[in-house]
Amino acid sequence: MATVPKSTVRLPMSRKIGGTWGPPRVLSEQTHSKNEPGRFGVYGGRYVPETLMAALDELEREYLKAKQDPKFRKRLDELLRTYAGRPTPLFFARRLTEKLGGPKIYLKREDLLHTGAHKINNCLGQALLVERMGKHRVIAETGAGQHGVATATVCALMGFECVVYMGTEDMRRQELNVFRMRLLGAEVRGVDSGSRTLKDAINEAMRDWVTNVRTTHYLLGSVLGAHPYPTMVRDFHRVIGREARAQVLKAEGKLPTAVIACVGGGSNAIGAFYEFIKDKRVKLVGVEAGGRGESLGDHAARFRGGKPGVLQGTYSYVLQDAGGQIALTHSVSAGLDYPSIGPEHAGLRDAGRAEYVPASDKEALEATILLARTEGIIPALESAHAVAEVIKRAPKMKKSDVVIVNISGRGDKDIGILRENLDIE
Ligand SMILES: *Cc1c(COP(=O)(O)O)cnc(C)c1O
Repeated sequence: MATVPKSTVRLPMSRKIGGTWGPPRVLSEQTHSKNEPGRFGVYGGRYVPETLMAALDELEREYLKAKQDPKFRKRLDELLRTYAGRPTPLFFARRLTEKLGGPKIYLKREDLLHTGAHKINNCLGQALLVERMGKHRVIAETGAGQHGVATATVCALMGFECVVYMGTEDMRRQELNVFRMRLLGAEVRGVDSGSRTLKDAINEAMRDWVTNVRTTHYLLGSVLGAHPYPTMVRDFHRVIGREARAQVLKAEGKLPTAVIACVGGGSNAIGAFYEFIKDKRVKLVGVEAGGRGESLGDHAARFRGGKPGVLQGTYSYVLQDAGGQIALTHSVSAGLDYPSIGPEHAGLRDAGRAEYVPASDKEALEATILLARTEGIIPALESAHAVAEVIKRAPKMKKSDVVIVNISGRGDKDIGILRENLDIE
């Protein structure tokens, strides 16, 4: 098991923020206990400059209050129902089940939500918190643009000013999402430094937050970042597993043998897993991007190639080179292409409660075709990684087993990539 480093942790953005990051807050073994909020085993925590501590404290306080407030729950539930389209169905995939000849396979249909993926669950939750805190400006960073679009969507809904940071290289690759965000009224700020991709956009967003923290909320898109983000974002996605648990009990009269979900930052996976954690017999399986090979730079499988470190304010597994620099990553699915993973997943893995496996680009592409042709559902390439794992696992399972695969999003956004990569007549 990894231990929390006692000496300085390298913060990748420290140099760029001209001193405001200072030496990172390192929590030594004396200063943190396993019961400390925001720690998952040794992972998680809050590795940020002093200037952000007050904002994180405020966010945590407001979140804890909102959680207990029936009015907040009611408003969020109503938006989830009438705006996002919850509850999502749990669909029995009959033809896929027959084809694979193993367990009964159920699909949790997060792909049917407004904006096409689970991300809206978290964005709506945070948007209501922004309102409670009396803030009116929201910033976010985005790589492929999916989180930027979900953020721009809720900002339009709530009437907030919205600024999305995006590397100029990513803007070029994701023109359509840039247009979508602008159509929704967001300002997209191109970041022209470094590799002009996600990690550079993170640096700029952090710099903005430090400067404008009084009026501005940083809307983080996954179970990443400093406490309270990983816990809060997970709680906003718990609805996935809560619904799925009730739905599978109703359909099968028993709990599933396994729950499978893809893991980028890890928000759809932790949302799907959480209500089953205490049911020790339910296997929890996270699927990372195995990309095109095992060398650093060719994948985003943090548990295969990464080691513990700090990125974006939290301590977790990070893909990094020997010098501690954040590694480049690759995946055919932009949403899984992130060098770190949510700290709660690192904790679940250390505890042996969840397992994490990679699926390659090729396996995900093949799974996309299979699901499209057996069930008439084109999954997001991210979600196709979870489908790829059930394809591998089914032959080793019993017919009486039941598996839930979380379909985190739909594949419309990936049609261009699918066309480039698939040879279909
Ligand atoms: C963003 C995204 C993901 C990855 O994010 P997580 O936080 O790991 O859930 C997965 N699937 C889809 C469809 C996405 O848009």
